[in-house]
Amino acid sequence: MSITELLTVLFPQLACLCVERVLAVGRSVRIVARTREPEAVCPYCGVRSDRVHSRYERRVSDMAISGRETLIQLQVRRFFCGNDGCERKTFAEQVPGLTVRYDRRSLGLAAVLRAVAVALGGRPGARLADRLGAAVSRMTLLRLLRGLPEPSAAGVPRVLGVDDFALRRGHRYGTVLVDIEAGRPIEVLTDRSADTFAAWLQAHPGVEVICRDRAGCYAEAATRAAPHAVQVADRWHLWHNLGQAVERTVAQHRGCLPEPDPPREPDAGEQRPSAPAPAQRSAAGRLAERTTARHAAVHGLLADGYGVKAIARELRLARGTVRRFARAQDVAELLASTGTGRRPSILEEHKPYLHQRWNAGVTNAATLFTELREKGFRGSYETVRDYIATLRSTGQVPAAPPPSPPTVRETVGWIMSNPDDLDADHEQRLAAILGRCPRLRAARGHVRAFADMMNTLGGRDLEKWMTSVEADDLPALRSFVTGLRRDQDAVTAGLTMPWNSGPVEGHVNRIKTIKRQMYGRANPDLLRVRVLHAD
Ligand SMILES: [Zn+2]
Ligand SMILES: [Zn+2]
Repeated sequence: MSITELLTVLFPQLACLCVERVLAVGRSVRIVARTREPEAVCPYCGVRSDRVHSRYERRVSDMAISGRETLIQLQVRRFFCGNDGCERKTFAEQVPGLTVRYDRRSLGLAAVLRAVAVALGGRPGARLADRLGAAVSRMTLLRLLRGLPEPSAAGVPRVLGVDDFALRRGHRYGTVLVDIEAGRPIEVLTDRSADTFAAWLQAHPGVEVICRDRAGCYAEAATRAAPHAVQVADRWHLWHNLGQAVERTVAQHRGCLPEPDPPREPDAGEQRPSAPAPAQRSAAGRLAERTTARHAAVHGLLADGYGVKAIARELRLARGTVRRFARAQDVAELLASTGTGRRPSILEEHKPYLHQRWNAGVTNAATLFTELREKGFRGSYETVRDYIATLRSTGQVPAAPPPSPPTVRETVGWIMSNPDDLDADHEQRLAAILGRCPRLRAARGHVRAFADMMNTLGGRDLEKWMTSVEADDLPALRSFVTGLRRDQDAVTAGLTMPWNSGPVEGHVNRIKTIKRQMYGRANPDLLRVRVLHAD
């Protein structure tokens, strides 16, 4: 490949120029060039002319070259138009692929900046443009946005998706209309009223299918302004509403989420913790005994109405000590925090495990120490031995704390999940909850059946599904069904027809991103331009 060929590939916009000089000036590149075609075409009448009227210099900013801002110092000509029928006497030549009238920016640079403006808007766009070697002001980017042509109307969509989005959260909402088949936003309306949507439908007759959320003002507008269009309650909203009903159900059964206390299983062979042999008593054991006795004394006096000061006097203890004992609900807590005085914290995170093993009958300190080492415990054998001794002597072993119960939200997530997507631990915890609570078990069954219906477009089973929900004592799901019945045709269509609102949701999410870039001060006009030119 010759260098000329290479340059033609890399800089096509310079192909029909005669480049005279290239200068590197600081962070920028300056190209001095002139046009070389003997003739030019009059833009007004299309007739060629070779009669030069005058020459002058134009400066055109172009896309950065190697990250450097690029300026073309261009010698151009003004021609006489030789066509007697043309209203113009003279015209300025343009360089194809590079210049347009009155623009200091090349076609390529303008395209880049428009793309930056659509993607990022004013301020962030200006920051990026600067990094791209195309420094431009925020206002210029906004002007470029406003100057974008209306996206070519590709006719009225056959399948229309409609959804709302917050312009200002909780204050103002807009409406986005999406051509579902093309997956392209076609209009942004600046409110979410039935009238505005109805007016749009009237101005754009021919929509056959309208995917919308649950019965509401879009449904009302569609019924009024496009009575022949099939209304489809879209699956995303149905699923979302079902999730809300499940959340209310789980919240109602919050009490069924935590594991009940496991029953203590007496173990064979090992000594019961409550019957310590005197020989096993150690210094740690004596400390534990004293702690236990003090705890009992402090709480006894508290129960009798004594204040901290009085108790301290009574028991000859420092007030801080009394407060510490008063705060502790049981001795184990105190022992855990004081331990044997030997940096108890190092053992802290392993205590639940120790308690669990202890309750399972493993009480040998050496065995437990070995096990803990394997689990990453870095402390000494004595630490473990002394702690085990306190467990032995107090006889008060906190049950291994059950894993903290799942939150309502987590549980809802598990119930709504495809069972194939649940990891083993969550599956097990969900199974335990469903095992304890027949109502939640029933709810999960209904959710799975609904998911099947959605995934297989089995809308014909809707009636059966609703009847089976109504047969159960699940008030929130029942009221979900009541809502479905009010909009049953559209819901059945939503569970039968292939349309779904994936494209609409995608665009609503994009709108959210744009709004975040606009720091929440979304100007509806600019937002509209950016949404419509997103592709
Ligand atoms: Zn002309
Ligand atoms: Zn329950």
